[in-house]
Amino acid sequence: MEGLGSPAPWAGGSVPGPSPRWSGVAPPGGRPPGFVLPAFVLSSSSRSSLPVLDFTPSPTHLEVAEVARAAARDVLAPNAARWDREGGFPSDNLAQLAERGLLAIGVGRSLGGRGAGTVAYSLAVTELARACAATTVALCVSNMVAEVVEAFGNADQRGHWVPKLAAGALEVGAFALSEAGAGSDPGGMRTRARKTAKGWVIDGSKLWITSGSDAGLFVVWARTNDSPGPRGLSCFLVPGDTPGLTRGKPEHKMGLNGSTTTAIEFDGCEVSDDALLGGEGTGFRVAMMALDGGRIGIASQALGIALQATDLAIAHATKTTRFGRPLATLQGVQWPLADNATQLDAARLLTLRAAWLKENGKPFSREASIAKVYATEASFAACNRAIEAMGAAGYDAAAEVERHFRDVRVTMIYEGTSEVQRIVISREIMRRFSEGG
Ligand SMILES: Cc1cc2nc3c(=O)[nH]c(=O)nc-3n(C[C@H](O)[C@H](O)[C@H](O)COP(=O)(O)OP(=O)(O)OC[C@H]3O[C@@H](n4cnc5c(N)ncnc54)[C@H](O)[C@@H]3O)c2cc1C
Repeated sequence: MEGLGSPAPWAGGSVPGPSPRWSGVAPPGGRPPGFVLPAFVLSSSSRSSLPVLDFTPSPTHLEVAEVARAAARDVLAPNAARWDREGGFPSDNLAQLAERGLLAIGVGRSLGGRGAGTVAYSLAVTELARACAATTVALCVSNMVAEVVEAFGNADQRGHWVPKLAAGALEVGAFALSEAGAGSDPGGMRTRARKTAKGWVIDGSKLWITSGSDAGLFVVWARTNDSPGPRGLSCFLVPGDTPGLTRGKPEHKMGLNGSTTTAIEFDGCEVSDDALLGGEGTGFRVAMMALDGGRIGIASQALGIALQATDLAIAHATKTTRFGRPLATLQGVQWPLADNATQLDAARLLTLRAAWLKENGKPFSREASIAKVYATEASFAACNRAIEAMGAAGYDAAAEVERHFRDVRVTMIYEGTSEVQRIVISREIMRRFSEGG
């Protein structure tokens, strides 16, 4: 894939100043168990260009995590079960997250974003996903759209769209890449954009588009010439009310029911020349670079879901008595929860490493894929163990853990399946090996 090893284009000047050093310090206001920020040091091997990293959260990291934790508690948690039961698009939730400055955390302040960087974004997503993974995926995709316009847009595109996305004035942004025959293989895309005297006309259909029902801006990929595979793709900014753009009905899904996922049809959909993002023929590169960043968000989302499921299982095990003693004293219950703690800590470290690399303008494609495949698979296993530790109480549809188990599954599918992440990782390690490094 073209995105491999490319320098991050979004290395902005808006990230927190000092080198972040994590020391295990809990943020102000205290934390529930299992949420203390990690202390870690990553040492480089002679083959890696990674320096030794010693992280302590900056005041910005702590502030953003605290804002997100409060939003999760006050805005998302009270309604998450209802969104899951009734479905629909979480407009109210997103409006309140926008008010709290959480819709464009990594985007620069000059464009209306929080300018807090990718580490803060990752911490915030994990906090929010603990409460409502469905609202969080709409936020993640919209943040990705804002970042892609910030990174690849011209001054007019950036100035017009990014502040609106940050403020929630467009509800959210949507990322329209996948099609019926083009999920893992975007080069199989059939949607076309034809050049006209006035601009472009787009025809085709997209599938599985997060927030497709309500998004005010779509980033749309289409084939603009007959070059084979990914080479002929371009990318367009299409307002949601453009004639010729039709939104499908929300799909029935296993989880994330409080997030709409729809098909989008383009039938003679006319856009001006100003809609082209990043230059004709550069669409595949734009998509791969956006997905590299998006994977950090999805790893963070999966982690939040699994941490919450684990805390619920611990709470259940400590207050439930079997054979005359608390479940939490039985080794058969303790060890799976110890595995959760171990693997989720590893997932957190990998995710923060990828976030730190992106934030500091270093190559992060391989690390984002490693974080995504590990965090999502570990989180799925952790949610499964949480149900195991709770027995029928975990399987009960009225229980929160059951929702987390359904919600976490898709993190191994979207923004590139686990198999696709392994392709990215293996290509990168082979390339590095053949280059002698
Ligand atoms: C809830 C949800 C929300 C989504 N939101 C969006 C969105 O906002 N925007 C968007 O554009 N898309 C979105 N998607 C689509 C998602 O990105 C794709 O489903 C995903 O990329 C996989 O594509 P596919 O479903 O076509 O699977 P396929 O590509 O058909 O893959 C099927 C299986 O084959 C495996 N496979 C495929 N190719 C290879 C290979 N070369 N080597 C080994 N194994 C392979 C896959 O890993 C998978 O296990 C969403 C999907 C879901 C479920």
